[in-house]
Amino acid sequence: MNIRMFGYSPESIVDGKGFRFSIFVQGCLMDCPDCHNPESHDLNGGYFMDTEALIKEISENPLLDGVTFSGGEPFLQPEPLIEIAEAVKKMNLNIWIYSGYTFEDILASGDEAKINLLRQADVLVDGPFKKDERSLELKFKGSRNQRLVDVKKSLDAGEAILFEL
Ligand code: SF4
Repeated sequence: MNIRMFGYSPESIVDGKGFRFSIFVQGCLMDCPDCHNPESHDLNGGYFMDTEALIKEISENPLLDGVTFSGGEPFLQPEPLIEIAEAVKKMNLNIWIYSGYTFEDILASGDEAKINLLRQADVLVDGPFKKDERSLELKFKGSRNQRLVDVKKSLDAGEAILFEL
């Protein structure tokens, strides 16, 4: 399946805990002031990759702890990311997703594909980047309003529960 990409980093230590393969999708509707990746906003920009090529590259690195979906906005392309996530789970790797939408936004959308993508995540780093709340001291997030949500616990509890690093 095709996925519209902004880029990817095969070995990252900044997009979540451990050693990670980070996928940056193309396209975002948020337009947060001072966004770190403004070139990733254009819904018609970027380039296409085959999800199978990404899955193969991930499977060939035995050092990975997990895979991160970031962007751009991952929840604008749930179908190809679900396909990648299902393959990644079979490799016993964890999944982190960075989104401008909150845990509550995604559930309230009622969009089955988006909610299915959320279910694949171990951690959701949620909410838009707010430059007034920016801090360089925060681990794995850019502004204080953003949360590291433990998705499994949160879905069970019916409310957002924070992930303990
Ligand atoms: S949600 Fe992320 S990619 Fe989108 S505008 Fe905000 S910071 Fe940039």
